[in-house]
Amino acid sequence: MPPREPHAVPLHRDTLAVRLAVERSQYGENSEALYLTSGYVQPSAEASARRFAGEDEGYTYGRTGNPTVTSFEQRLAAMEGTEACLATASGMAAVMLMCFSLLKAGDHVIISRSMFGSTLKLIGTEFARFGVETTVVPQTDLAAWRAAVRPETRLLFAETPTNPLGEVCDIRALADLAHNAGALLAVDNCFATPVLQRPVERGADIVMHSGTKYLDGQGRVMAGALCASESMVREKFLPVQKNSGMVLSPFNAWVVLKGLETLDLRMKAQSAQALALAQWLESHPAVGRVYYPGLSSHPQHELAMRQMSGIGGAVLSFDVKAATAGQARQRAFHVLDALQVLSLCTNLGDTKTLCTHPASTSHGKLTEAQREAAGVSQGLIRVAVGLEHLDDIRADLLRGLETL
Ligand SMILES: *Cc1c(COP(=O)(O)O)cnc(C)c1O
Repeated sequence: MPPREPHAVPLHRDTLAVRLAVERSQYGENSEALYLTSGYVQPSAEASARRFAGEDEGYTYGRTGNPTVTSFEQRLAAMEGTEACLATASGMAAVMLMCFSLLKAGDHVIISRSMFGSTLKLIGTEFARFGVETTVVPQTDLAAWRAAVRPETRLLFAETPTNPLGEVCDIRALADLAHNAGALLAVDNCFATPVLQRPVERGADIVMHSGTKYLDGQGRVMAGALCASESMVREKFLPVQKNSGMVLSPFNAWVVLKGLETLDLRMKAQSAQALALAQWLESHPAVGRVYYPGLSSHPQHELAMRQMSGIGGAVLSFDVKAATAGQARQRAFHVLDALQVLSLCTNLGDTKTLCTHPASTSHGKLTEAQREAAGVSQGLIRVAVGLEHLDDIRADLLRGLETL
């Protein structure tokens, strides 16, 4: 379905985030309809034939399209500033669909070692079985990205800021590098969302999302998306998706569609809380380093502020002070186990504040040496800051911190 502007005059992004959707049904529902259907009744055999031949728009089957999913796609594309968007069952389904659509045996990919763990595994290990080679480089070392480029390089894939340390890479510089090499740049925009950062405005070709995180924003459903040009979505991604079934359920699409309406408010409010919490943690005697792109102590602070609308996002991490790795782990566990309000939960992008111990969860399968290289210490705690009152968030963390 082609994107449809609800009004003739160009509207602001904030308005599109609330309004853009497929047409209302004949019932005039104000909140977008949830079309839970796997099949579509065709108006005539001739019309059906045209739809199947791709000559006419119109829905034929749930694996190839759904109006609620289309509404989500149109809205997210408008927010990211891309021509088109394709929704997927999860963030990882989006990565899978992108790689499956763009790569073949003999191709080469460059990714940062700070990427989401499943992304590293999927591209670096699973795709290797099909002859796709991957070079893993340090996130912030542009020279390493440059040195990794080969004639067969097809894709550079970056995530910024990263989990859990908030490392930021320069999207514009990576886009130039990719394009000079005849490759594409894809950016996982999960942590920043289009509210803080629109990668295509800095030259990226594809924006990948885990809708499970801030787009839903209330911890309810799994979802994913790829935002890109109309031709890339239609010619590369859609044919593979149609035949592989990595589609988003209409129910989940509806939930995330409604999540987009408050994304701007939530991201700004949660980021403001994260900054205040990061500043407070930085001054606490039991806390070592605090990792948050919005702090001036962050190594890529300036770049982050330039690239992310002057806002650091809603995720921060901090080290508890300790003499040894064993003690650090014990102290981090102590702080997490003392929580009474915040959730001990390995997710992020929720209105509820979620705390986790990366070294034993998301980064638990790494060797100690790999973990060290990734900067994930045993004393590290990640906080994905939500919308509770800041005093309550601080008080809950203090329960464990003040008894160290
Ligand atoms: C969660 C996450 C993903 C994967 O998304 P799912 O919806 O869980 O499949 C990818 N990238 C980042 C940065 C994430 O946080």
